Amino acid sequence: MPVLGQTGLNVSSLCFGTLAVSPLQGCNNIIEGSAVLRYGLEQGINFLDTAEIYANYEIIRRAMLGLNHHVVIATKCYAYSQEQMQASLERARQELDRDVIEIFLLHEQESMHTVRGHREALEYLLEAKQKGIVKAVGLSTHAVAGVRAGAALAEIDVIHPILNQAGLGIIDGTLPEMDDAVQLAHQMGKGIYAMKALGGGHLSRDPVQALNYARQVPGVSAVAVGMSSRLEVDINLRIFSGLEVPAQWLDRLQKERRILHAADWCEGCGQCQDKCPQGALRLEQERIRVDQAKCVLCGYCGAVCPHFCLKIIRQG
Ligand code: SF4
Ligand code: SF4
Repeated sequence: MPVLGQTGLNVSSLCFGTLAVSPLQGCNNIIEGSAVLRYGLEQGINFLDTAEIYANYEIIRRAMLGLNHHVVIATKCYAYSQEQMQASLERARQELDRDVIEIFLLHEQESMHTVRGHREALEYLLEAKQKGIVKAVGLSTHAVAGVRAGAALAEIDVIHPILNQAGLGIIDGTLPEMDDAVQLAHQMGKGIYAMKALGGGHLSRDPVQALNYARQVPGVSAVAVGMSSRLEVDINLRIFSGLEVPAQWLDRLQKERRILHAADWCEGCGQCQDKCPQGALRLEQERIRVDQAKCVLCGYCGAVCPHFCLKIIRQG
């Protein structure tokens, strides 16, 4: 198992992206969500990625009950003050039933400017790290400038960047620019685990190629992949083990494609549009429209809709 940068944490190169087993992606059944996650953990995955906004700590806690190996948890939040970060860290410890959260990240950092705005929260995490409550501190980002900011800061241990073979979802640059930033971060000793290797579903027609691309980028120790079925777990484990995936498994997976659906009762308030980092939402005649080609299925828009209009659903 690779070590994540200089954190001393050994993690499976396939990280379970738990957004896929959260209400943000339509998983409202705690038992079903925790069963899929549990299955992945039982198959040997020891690393999972979550976030306060995913609202799935209970699903994770249940999935880990009585498991016979330790799971490295990475979570993140939007806190910018000390008080907010303290509340977020305590909430994670309590709801996950963990004294120690291995990796705690500042969520969605776009640049050094954004990190400066979260300085107080970062300082709180560094204090928690000194006390041993957190093992590693870092940031997640959809931006080249976010990766570069993390690379430049000595106190950042871990970076969780968007990275896929098509450069989908990078908000401020190209794939070569993201690759360069990731290499810089690697040279600076940062632990890197990538996200959105399947481009939020847009690259899932050929998951073998897409995941092999991300996992083989130098310096990337792990890739967080959202999995909401045992089939996805089985396929991804084979890919990450360098094994061939049976064609009939891939055929079945194609039938499970997902899209973001906007319900008819949208009131056109525009709150979701402001939240989308990909510019995938626009108001038209006082109704929200989704540009499926730009949407990476992060689910962030759904979390701010006061009327629960936005849901990620299976297509076909
Ligand atoms: S529309 Fe934007 S915020 Fe909503 S799921 Fe798609 S990319 Fe994420
Ligand atoms: S937040 Fe909800 S109600 Fe408001 S525009 Fe978006 S989908 Fe419509």
